[in-house]
Amino acid sequence: MKRPPRRELILSHESVSLAVTPAEAGVQVAKRIFERSVKPWIPASAGMTVPKYDSPRKVGNDEPRERGSHFLPADKIRLYDDTLREGEQMAGVAFSARQKLEMAEFLSRLGVHVLNLAFPAVSPEEGEAVVACLRSQRNGRIRKEVEIQVMCRSEPKEIDAAADLARRAGTPVKDLSILLLSATSSRHVKHKFGKALLHREGVSEAEGRNRPESWFLGANLRLIVDVIHHARRAGFQRIEFVGEDASRAAPRYLLKWADACLSAGGTRLTFSDTVGCLSPERLDALLPPLISLTRRRGADFHGHFHNDLGLASANCVRALSLGATHAGVSVAGLGERAGMAALEQVVMQLRLLYGITLPGFRYDLLTEARRRIESASGIFLQAHAPIVGEGAFAHESGLHTSGVAKDPTLYQFIPERQVGGKRTFVFGKHSGRGGVEAALREAGISASTQEINALRDRVKSLRARRISPPLLRRQAQEHYRDYRRLGIGSEELARIARKMIHKKLKDFS
Ligand SMILES: [Zn+2]
Repeated sequence: MKRPPRRELILSHESVSLAVTPAEAGVQVAKRIFERSVKPWIPASAGMTVPKYDSPRKVGNDEPRERGSHFLPADKIRLYDDTLREGEQMAGVAFSARQKLEMAEFLSRLGVHVLNLAFPAVSPEEGEAVVACLRSQRNGRIRKEVEIQVMCRSEPKEIDAAADLARRAGTPVKDLSILLLSATSSRHVKHKFGKALLHREGVSEAEGRNRPESWFLGANLRLIVDVIHHARRAGFQRIEFVGEDASRAAPRYLLKWADACLSAGGTRLTFSDTVGCLSPERLDALLPPLISLTRRRGADFHGHFHNDLGLASANCVRALSLGATHAGVSVAGLGERAGMAALEQVVMQLRLLYGITLPGFRYDLLTEARRRIESASGIFLQAHAPIVGEGAFAHESGLHTSGVAKDPTLYQFIPERQVGGKRTFVFGKHSGRGGVEAALREAGISASTQEINALRDRVKSLRARRISPPLLRRQAQEHYRDYRRLGIGSEELARIARKMIHKKLKDFS
């Protein structure tokens, strides 16, 4: 007797009806796996509600959050702006004291809560910028609730110099906030601070070679505790301590370090993903114990994430979703190497994906912020940079332009007017009839189908003639030549050195 065909196919744990073709069965399996494993992580907002164009999603800040999120209420989330300190550390960038003052006043208007302004040890101009900004705050041009901060290495003389800046500006030292640099990974503690720690503890380098790693980690704790005490004695009351390279530190040491800093009088912990190597999963494991510790001790938690793998803004928002109080951001993500979490990305992710609108924040000034930082820094954003890029709301392809002309939400999730952007249509190789027709309608020009088709063909050939590959090559070369001229490269440095040394020899002869 012939056996009836099997109705079910067993694929690992999945059982799928074979009433469909094998290919369809595969799709069903994939769908089930997707639904089970991925779906819970998709924000409830994604794909479920279509935001009404030009009006922010009507989700109150106190409505239930995504599963597993513990965002603070919107009025408790703090934007910690690092544009003027970290942003300036981007290779080739240098701001004058005047530029820092102008930008700080603008950032205050934009609605940030903390301004990490300067690293005074770098140059006297940094100190000038701090004094100017403190005075500007007294005169009401920077909001009085904005926290102005300077960064120092763990050296008492740098802390004293920071206190002097406050005094020069006529501001009580307690009203200036200080950020103290510390390290948390064995790599940084031993290889970066090793010699300084040996010197500080009166151990010779020869003897130090035999000291175990645990000795260096202990000496590192003693150092940060001492400098926090010193900052307290100098009059500082807002003392932030940053754990460089925290993402590669041992979790137990990280907790011990944080606990010691808080006990010494630190008021805010910075978790720094210094080299941008933190995966979202590792973040989920590392941050909660540190956040609970700071919360139990009445302190704040600041997440500082680098963008080397393109995860900075997502990690920053994730940290907030775990209860972090401060989001470390900079305009356009300016910062070391590939930069850090971009201010515009973080605030818009919060607003559009999680329904968190920060009270008083001027979202409409975001594009203006990008323009200002470009002209101050000489770093120009790629045209397709999210949210504020020059072409972030530009449409060319026929399908998209005709779709957007009917309903912008078809091909645009972010309402451009919310961020001070402009939607544009570009015509060229990919243009279609619908887009051309919509543009003519908007310009008040009536045309027949034949004329529209002819116009579409005309713009296609015009585009082909206007931009040639050699022209683009030249433009790219000019752009990168200008970029490289922002700073002084190694070859130029060697040229200057040869000239100087040659001149010195001549002077002596
Ligand atoms: Zn950084």
